[in-house]
Amino acid sequence: MSDPRRTLPAVDALLAEPDVAALLATHPRALVVRAVRDTLEAARADGGAVPRAGWPRAIAARAARLAAPSLAGVVNATGVVLHTNLGRAVLARAAADALARVAAGYVALEYDLERGTRGSRHRLCRDLLVELTGAEDALVVNNAAAALLLALSALARRGEAIVSRGELIEIGGQFRIPDILARSGATLIEVGTTNRTHRDDYVAAIGPATRLLVKVHRSNFQVTGFTAEVGAVEVAAVGRARHVPTLYDLGSGLLLDLSPWGLSGEPGIRDAVASGVDAVVCSGDKLLGGPQAGILLGSAAVVAACRGDPIARAVRADKFTLAALEATLALYRDPETARREIPVLKMLTEDVEEIRRRAEALRRGVGEVAEVVEGESEVGGGSFPGAKLPTWLVRLVPDTQHLTPDTLEARLREGDPPVVARIEADRVVLDARTILPSQEDVVIRAVRRAVDG
Ligand SMILES: *Cc1c(COP(=O)(O)O)cnc(C)c1O
Repeated sequence: MSDPRRTLPAVDALLAEPDVAALLATHPRALVVRAVRDTLEAARADGGAVPRAGWPRAIAARAARLAAPSLAGVVNATGVVLHTNLGRAVLARAAADALARVAAGYVALEYDLERGTRGSRHRLCRDLLVELTGAEDALVVNNAAAALLLALSALARRGEAIVSRGELIEIGGQFRIPDILARSGATLIEVGTTNRTHRDDYVAAIGPATRLLVKVHRSNFQVTGFTAEVGAVEVAAVGRARHVPTLYDLGSGLLLDLSPWGLSGEPGIRDAVASGVDAVVCSGDKLLGGPQAGILLGSAAVVAACRGDPIARAVRADKFTLAALEATLALYRDPETARREIPVLKMLTEDVEEIRRRAEALRRGVGEVAEVVEGESEVGGGSFPGAKLPTWLVRLVPDTQHLTPDTLEARLREGDPPVVARIEADRVVLDARTILPSQEDVVIRAVRRAVDG
């Protein structure tokens, strides 16, 4: 009888507590009941102990957590611009506005307003993509992985697809080129070696069953040393000479030359299209800086084949994707506007003195426990692997006897809003590059709270 678990209060008794009943004014009853049950469950797991804060406060805290959106906004202080775990690209104002507009009312998604008849959703971004990339035709789907699956299914199903061994990569999140190829119904024919593949390797592998030559951009790692790869221009030439279609999985979709800002080596979309391959696949939310989307560019025949494949329906883009992508693409009509308005491009090309000024402002706000030091940011999102961007960091230097870097990092992460920072040389650092200017005040407050405990 001494087991305290038996003496836990009943759900109804807790619901009748005035401070718990008061929660019903701001939360649905079902949520409050769940908060009570969860709190009881936690107490039971804790050996039947009364919550340290007391029942009403513990229940209120749990109710608040249950009511909060699970996709909480966070501050990205990591300096990784395209942070896949933090949602990759932050959208341009115009794209966010387009999303809100589309969400709140009906839209002419598949409706031809001139004729008053059914139209195509694919027309929406198509014209802009054709204009900006020089491709003959274009199709937008859910993400680049889906675009690749669709293209492989439409172009190589029941046949052979030839890929260089050096390009059989894993993108992350269980996504491997050989697996996706197998799912598409194509048979993979590997050519070359891990470090070197030559034009003649492709030529020798082409046979009666060959349906497609595939080139994959090794987007997330670097190879150095004794290496050789066959460029898209050459792969396209081999395909043309042997009447075999060619596909180039570009990964990140770069539509603005970033080499003046020290970022080179990532193939651009226009160059990929101009290489002469029949189809190019890239992402909407990496370097392009738009919403999650897969962009398929290519010849009229290839895009028509993809549009007609059953997988196209299963991976079709929704109205939000199309609206946000269209608004993002429209900004590229003027490269300087794109660079200024698209957050990914703005962060990647920001003047380092401007970053320093923002870091100094943060430091002044935070006070004595912070100092400004030089550091490096990363592009992230499997783009420009190895590239380091000079930046300025706010380094937090509280007395480590009382506050270890791990504890401070965790407090920042668990704060409201959560601030995701990184630890470098045993100190928590905040990279001013990826902290949005509008977040400066909340970051200062969050850091002060975390430091003061
Ligand atoms: C990122 C990437 C993909 C997948 O793109 P998602 O838009 O995330 O689906 C495919 N191929 C390459 C080479 C990539 O880098």
